[in-house]
Amino acid sequence: MSKTQELLEKYADVALKIGVNLQEGQPLVIQAPVSAAEFARVIAKRAFAAGAGNVFVEYGDEAFGRIKTENAPKEALTYVSENYIKMMEEYQQMGASFLQIYSPNPDALAGVDPERVAIRTKANAAAMENFKNEMMKGGVSWNIISTPTQEWAQKVFPNSTVEEAVEKLWDAIFSTTRIYEEDPVEAWRVHGETLHQKLEYLNTKKYKKLHYRAPGTDLSIELPSGHKWVGGAVKNTKGLDYTPNIPTEEVFTLAKKDGVNGTVTSTMPLNYNGTTIENFSLTFKDGKAVEFTAGTGEETLKKMLEIDEGAAYLGEVALVPHDSPISNKNIIFYNTLFDENASCHLAVGAAYPICLEEGTTMSKDELAAAGVNYSLSHVDFMVGSNELDIDGETEDGQLEPVFRKGNWAF
Ligand code: ZN
Ligand code: ZN
Repeated sequence: MSKTQELLEKYADVALKIGVNLQEGQPLVIQAPVSAAEFARVIAKRAFAAGAGNVFVEYGDEAFGRIKTENAPKEALTYVSENYIKMMEEYQQMGASFLQIYSPNPDALAGVDPERVAIRTKANAAAMENFKNEMMKGGVSWNIISTPTQEWAQKVFPNSTVEEAVEKLWDAIFSTTRIYEEDPVEAWRVHGETLHQKLEYLNTKKYKKLHYRAPGTDLSIELPSGHKWVGGAVKNTKGLDYTPNIPTEEVFTLAKKDGVNGTVTSTMPLNYNGTTIENFSLTFKDGKAVEFTAGTGEETLKKMLEIDEGAAYLGEVALVPHDSPISNKNIIFYNTLFDENASCHLAVGAAYPICLEEGTTMSKDELAAAGVNYSLSHVDFMVGSNELDIDGETEDGQLEPVFRKGNWAF
């Protein structure tokens, strides 16, 4: 077996054993770009070898997506087949796990009318609303991993040839996902323990607010009572562990919907649906982003915040030390799966019900009453740097250091 083949199989095994934690007899759905077909086949073989009850693959093609977004009549932009929606929900009902290979070209939709992009994004999100909600509350196990594409690799390594860039990106992916370790699955178990120590500390402290200070940032975020910090492996509603993102370096919880005030400035570019938004700031008042500016992609940022009411409120609050394996590579990946795990980040849009005590059994109204934001959208953006300080405010109003100069203060 060639070296590369061996690494690909190890990568597939991490996605199957740590990512979705595939069970004997369980079906698996692979969602992959056509460019990742070869790796999707490796996953399928390893999944059957691990006892999968069935394996399905759903391919997508973002280059086709661009052609459609630019050229289709408006009514075609909003059409999603009922049969497709039913099929995806049927996979969920049969208890399948979902493994997504996420390898977007950061510039896939550069220059396309943001209005047309937004129409399609919203229609797709609305069609897949029930499917997405089930994932957000851990009703099914799911995992997202990435493989290089030529376009993505060249964006990350613009001074390399295509071949070199792809090779460098594979190397960056394998090293940040612990695939070079002797036993990557075991390395992930050990890493999970480390993350658990941090979240146990925060779950004991139960801070009622976090205060962020950095250049261009002065923000306070209220955390709802009953919030939980989670990270590494999380539990699905059947009580089985799964790890939604590979890699993952974050511990995260949710913000109280109406409890966010102040300004936050991004520290990395954000690739949002094929358009790059850079150097942006958001100002929140009673939870809502009421003002925003961006160096590039301001119109796209505006559309992103206007998808629905909840898209302008914070869902997720995530802590990642500046001194961490992905951050130390000093690579801007232009892929949120990697960039968000190199940096403290926030997300506008839906919060994860798994971050609230009893959240996964609450109705939509109960979640809203508890301060949990809801939206069709969930977009992470990076705010961490070596200049970020965060204080936690205790129930009796004491301030305690949580982050100093971008790293854990405890
Ligand atoms: Zn996150
Ligand atoms: Zn997120």
